[in-house]
Amino acid sequence: MYTRLCQPVHPIGKSSCLKQDHALPVAGSIKARGGIFEVLTMAEEVMRREGIEWATPLAPLQPEARRHFERYTISVGSTGNLGLTIGVMAAALGFQSVVHMARVAKEWKKLRLRDRGVTVVEHDGDFAQTVDAGRRQAQAAPRHFFVDDERSEALFLGYTVAALRLREQLAGAGITVDARHPLFVYLPCGVGGAPGGIAFGLKHLFGDAVHCFFAEPCASPAMLVRLAFEPQALSVYDMGLDNLTEADGLAVGRASEFVQAMVRGLVSGVFTVRDDDLFRYLYRLHEAEGMAIEPSAAAGFSGPRMLLGTDAGRRYVRDRGLRPVLDQATHLLWTTGGAFVPAGEYQRMLARGRALAQAPGADFSSHPVEESA
Ligand SMILES: *Cc1c(COP(=O)(O)O)cnc(C)c1O
Repeated sequence: MYTRLCQPVHPIGKSSCLKQDHALPVAGSIKARGGIFEVLTMAEEVMRREGIEWATPLAPLQPEARRHFERYTISVGSTGNLGLTIGVMAAALGFQSVVHMARVAKEWKKLRLRDRGVTVVEHDGDFAQTVDAGRRQAQAAPRHFFVDDERSEALFLGYTVAALRLREQLAGAGITVDARHPLFVYLPCGVGGAPGGIAFGLKHLFGDAVHCFFAEPCASPAMLVRLAFEPQALSVYDMGLDNLTEADGLAVGRASEFVQAMVRGLVSGVFTVRDDDLFRYLYRLHEAEGMAIEPSAAAGFSGPRMLLGTDAGRRYVRDRGLRPVLDQATHLLWTTGGAFVPAGEYQRMLARGRALAQAPGADFSSHPVEESA
């Protein structure tokens, strides 16, 4: 089955691994990487402005630093995991912490933030409008930092570091990555920052030996549209798609301009996945490994099947001369979120996945690699 690659590494089976970012502390999602790093860069900037030295690792936690942080605001526009991460981390350091959310966002997310002293501002309108409202308020105010999911270099850089961690973990698990042992990585993609930063890092470390594929919901293939159909189409709406998906973290109509420019040429391919399959994978993972992930985090699971079982995938393999080394390859599925989904909510998703997986004629396999080999 799977090797689990998160904090500890648990080999399970031959060729598949899980990179368990769904279990990262503080955020319960991949946003811990970019989000916490960005808040720390803002803390560093305040300390520099106020003449406080970052002399020891814990300097931002000292009362002297905190006194200054309290006079600054960090805000973010996000209905999902980015809001949860930035809000909690900023509040923990003592910043005034503001999260702009769509009114329709899940109640438990608002509650989780308010419980931690974060101000939640609710907006009518969709994600892009929420972000715009947050951005405008921040620009008008002094001592106010805005975390901009669509434009932030700090977020992107925070994600890149995952490549260094993964290299250590792969080495620790005895998994080789080189020309004769290719690494295929399947990354759920929203605006692109998380998978983009990770792909950027991995390509710098492993070059041609690593192949990064992005996974997007059928209704929200923002990066696919941006990379493949520009200039005819810039957003999923231009393609006649509605951007309605249960994969909260991936419900993005338009990819980050900054990220698409950074990763063009580094991404091996983008594939789409149906919402029903996300729930089936969520259920199968729970049955097989007892792990709880959110639907977004399962987007990459059909990656091996897309690579080995479709014409486009097989062409990719053949054109790069990878066929002879396929049985020495590692397929890495990046699970990106889920640890903090409330139990009741998770049980509903699990039940939906169970019903779908057990429905007669479900064309789905929990062993995509084996199935299509
Ligand atoms: C944010 C998120 C992603 C994708 O990250 P982007 O930077 O938006 O591409 C994937 N999965 C989960 C669970 C997320 O929260």
